[in-house]
Amino acid sequence: MKGHYIDGTWTGDEPSLPVENPATGAIIARVADADAAVGQRALEAAAAAQDKWARTSPRSRADLLMAVFGLLHERADRIAALITAEMGKPLAEARGEVSYAAEFFRWFAEESVRAAGGYRLAPSGTRRIVTMSQPVGPVLAITPWNFPLAMGARKIAPALGAGCTIVLKPAPQTPLTSLALMELLDEAGVPAGVVNCVTTSDAAAVCTPLLADPRLRKLTFTGSTAVGRTLLALSAPRVLRTSMELGGNAPFVVLAHADLDKAVAGAVEAKMRNSGEACTSANRFLVHESLAEEFAARLTERLAALRVGDGAEPGTQVGPLIDATAVASVERLVDEAVRAGARVRTGGHRRPGPGYFFEPTVLTDVPADARILHTEIFGPVAPIRTFFTTAEALAAANTTTAGLIGYVYGENLNETLTFAENLETGMVGVNAGVVSDPAAPFGGVKESGLGREGGREGLDEYLETKYLGLAL
Ligand code: NAP
Repeated sequence: MKGHYIDGTWTGDEPSLPVENPATGAIIARVADADAAVGQRALEAAAAAQDKWARTSPRSRADLLMAVFGLLHERADRIAALITAEMGKPLAEARGEVSYAAEFFRWFAEESVRAAGGYRLAPSGTRRIVTMSQPVGPVLAITPWNFPLAMGARKIAPALGAGCTIVLKPAPQTPLTSLALMELLDEAGVPAGVVNCVTTSDAAAVCTPLLADPRLRKLTFTGSTAVGRTLLALSAPRVLRTSMELGGNAPFVVLAHADLDKAVAGAVEAKMRNSGEACTSANRFLVHESLAEEFAARLTERLAALRVGDGAEPGTQVGPLIDATAVASVERLVDEAVRAGARVRTGGHRRPGPGYFFEPTVLTDVPADARILHTEIFGPVAPIRTFFTTAEALAAANTTTAGLIGYVYGENLNETLTFAENLETGMVGVNAGVVSDPAAPFGGVKESGLGREGGREGLDEYLETKYLGLAL
């Protein structure tokens, strides 16, 4: 289909990198496959465009972001179809992702005209303290396949708004959506070199030299904790600024006083959005003993009724997983849990091909040490455990090196909020199965990452604070 987008031009050799539809296994397109030299050219373009872009007025940058917001809505159906074709999620969810991604452009258009600064007298009375915000400089953005549009949007929009130029390296499974976004940015009038995109089958070969290049000033990464760790190590020699949105292991806690209707509805959302292939996906259900059987029965009924299939078919509620490796990984986790004593309430198996499908699954009686409770499942499987005391639930919820998000359901306001405050996560859904919002700071603690995307904080990730000390 397309080459790389560098310096406002489409370039590249004959496209050779295949893109597969995970619902059918069919190759739907081929894209260019960058080597290290192509990555260098992209950074060269970003570095050359940096000064002028930083000096472009915040209002002009905001106007461009608003134009992209408008175009995304205008082309929503086409882009949603692309997301579904290369990633698999049902069309309705893909349309939701387009709206969510578009909101990052609107939000950061609004925020970018309000970069922080101040002017005050030092307590000593000997100087004035003046602070200003300046763009960090050229950015490398590396994104995963699970939200092909939104993960790029929530990096590109704040980077551009702050006055940074950017090179995007999307996941090889889902490059088409990123390339479609490049077309829109180009059409909106984003100047050449400000945004660049390279697709590759060898991410390390392309990105490692860029991380060592003094022209690069920031890395923003969304993906697994394992790769995040490697990239942090590669960023250390140059003390590169980094933002890291890494893996999760979200507990979903149902306290004794929870409203079961709300909890079950929230559980379906938190578990099944994106077929469970989300960093925010509820990974472990911890339910008070008094509600556990009813909760399990109702969740089982809801998941068993979901229609699994090709996301492009009307009525599909759960799409395929991304590839054969993903299915094998989910299958292994379920099989191990079952061998260790877990009971399958629904699902439990892969579906025959073509495509990479796994049945929505509920497991109860899962042993505390089962690997499924300590690993990011990234699939439509809900393991349930029970607890007697709130202290026991909190200890279990926090027994993980991840700290992205947790969910807590309860009607006793004080106890529910106290629980939320004590969860070791960057975000908590309180009686809410989805919390993602471009206006809110998204990110984790512990091994789930560094920094925040969205909210006021999302712009700060691309700004440096400069202090001018003015002698009186
Ligand atoms: P991944 O394997 O870590 O890959 C993410 C991106 O990093 C891909 O573009 C990948 O390209 C690239 N990459 C891998 N090794 C690299 C290297 N040495 N140098 C440069 N780039 C490299 O993650 P994934 O499987 O695509 O995505 C799933 C993970 O993302 C899950 O853990 C999920 O929780 C996490 N995630 C987190 C958030 C969040 O906001 N916290 C949001 C969404 C997803 P290649 O595939 O070509 O290696």
